[in-house]
Amino acid sequence: MTDPRQILHDVFGFSSFREGQEEIVRAVLAGEDVLAVMPTGAGKSLCYQLPTLARQGLTLVVSPLIALMRDQVAALRHFGIEAGSLNSANDADENRRVGDAIRDGRMRLLYASPERLANTNATEWLARAGVNLLAIDEAHCVSQWGHDFRPEYAMLGEVRRRLGGVQTIALTATADVATRGDIVDRLFEAEPRLFIHGFDRPNLRLAMQAKENSKRQLFTFLDKHRHESGIVYCSSRDSTERLADSLSQAGYRALPYHAGMAQGDRAKNQDIFLQEDGIVMVATVAFGMGIDKPDVRFVAHAALPKSIEAYYQEIGRAGRDGAAADTLTLYGLDDMRLRRSQIEDSESSDEQKRIERQRLNALVALCEAPRCRRQTLLAYFGESTEPCGNCDLCIDGVMSFDGTVEAQKLLSAIVRTGERFGTEHLISILVGEETDAVRRFGHAQLKTFGVGADRSKTEWRSLLRQIYAAGLVSLELAEYGRWTLTDRGVAVLKGQEGIELRSDVLMKPRERRRRRAGFEAHAAVSGDDPLLMELKALRTRLAKEEGVPAYVIFSDRSLI
Ligand code: ADP
Ligand code: MG
Ligand code: ZN
Repeated sequence: MTDPRQILHDVFGFSSFREGQEEIVRAVLAGEDVLAVMPTGAGKSLCYQLPTLARQGLTLVVSPLIALMRDQVAALRHFGIEAGSLNSANDADENRRVGDAIRDGRMRLLYASPERLANTNATEWLARAGVNLLAIDEAHCVSQWGHDFRPEYAMLGEVRRRLGGVQTIALTATADVATRGDIVDRLFEAEPRLFIHGFDRPNLRLAMQAKENSKRQLFTFLDKHRHESGIVYCSSRDSTERLADSLSQAGYRALPYHAGMAQGDRAKNQDIFLQEDGIVMVATVAFGMGIDKPDVRFVAHAALPKSIEAYYQEIGRAGRDGAAADTLTLYGLDDMRLRRSQIEDSESSDEQKRIERQRLNALVALCEAPRCRRQTLLAYFGESTEPCGNCDLCIDGVMSFDGTVEAQKLLSAIVRTGERFGTEHLISILVGEETDAVRRFGHAQLKTFGVGADRSKTEWRSLLRQIYAAGLVSLELAEYGRWTLTDRGVAVLKGQEGIELRSDVLMKPRERRRRRAGFEAHAAVSGDDPLLMELKALRTRLAKEEGVPAYVIFSDRSLI
């Protein structure tokens, strides 16, 4: 076997592996089945191409689009590698060339559409020729939760069996837990090695704020970015037009973009944004797919995005050049309520609705995260990191309180009901509400019944989302959205560990403003000024004794 680094250099001409690639390549070379989740552009193809070249034999690559196959085959041939494809667009010559190369063992990477492989003859023929590795690209297509479900992809588990249970690597950029579970169930007999990489974009500053005066919040943010290129996402066509108008009046060069505009106007605005500097694009989510402008310096959401995946995609359009970029997402109860009613009123199946509700919960949990926002975001994609120092929560801190008792109430309600129930039922038990279900299951007799009557249901929902974001509980997506305890949850329930929760998100906006305003300290000091030390001490005392944070502000930036 040739050294992977040597091949990377000699064949592909790359000087180093990108994050995650080397580990995956080594796992494949060690004969393991692999599921790799990495964002678009991270370099997934290399993870099966390089191992193919490091050993003998044929790799069969399943790819959903003929255009994708063509690009890949052309690129491989450019590197001097024997590659070909089986698809409906091939002419007879091409088919003959591919057939010959497979028969005499020259072919190294064969791309095929799942439709082709659904054909038993084709797979039997391939089984005889001998396939060494099955690579399934865009593997989220096997999942009914993915946005791009394809029935032929569901057959690929069968294809794998027909090929003699061949070693398999599945690759996708769509990362969430439900989709992953589905991929594993359908493609693998045993759990594959899971690799999740490359979701972190450390140059993006993350911030989310509850809407108080959303226009003022947005303008304060944009004011820091005068003359820079950026995108503001709005939830409706109307609001893009209105906001673009008021920004123009405030002296910005702002343009609207939404699917309701005439094709020509839309294309014109997009071109201006791409070609000129300092344009603010005020857009619906229709804007951005395939936009590759490296120096977008900020992305703001004037309203809650659709999901964490959408959020990540949308903020990901900033800072492609690797330089610092800023993001701000505003969210309100009204957004959340709207989103909930959209889910309930949709035509989706009950199962689909459950998944959608849980995805929304995860998004709201990100908004109210009690600790580093990037940690919470990456945890959703299955990646872990240290606190980042580049998000609002790391920089400004949060108003927090010792929430151990609250967490224990929630955890104990979950345990006492056998880890079999969802959010609303648990909260009814805590506030002591005798719903039909509570009566039917005899849950009014539980010790936890009514122990949370001192708080509103809204507060409990937030607290539950917070302990979810903090990793004390997990959601069983496939099973009615029931909550279960993690090891950390058990430790908190037993009193072995405590937990800080946020109090600011439990307050009404007015209360929150009053508390913040009352304790902000403004001073013009430098880093080593003794006054700063005094202010820091004051801040600590306020936080400890009064349970409210104070900030020391350097010019316009909160520091501690
Ligand atoms: P994905 O499938 O994850 O979206 P690709 O496999 O298409 O990504 O790779 C994206 C681009 O990155 C390709 O142009 C590829 O040649 C390039 N690339 C992959 N690995 C490396 C590397 N180690 N060094 C430099 N470029 C790389
Ligand atoms: Mg790809
Ligand atoms: Zn952080």
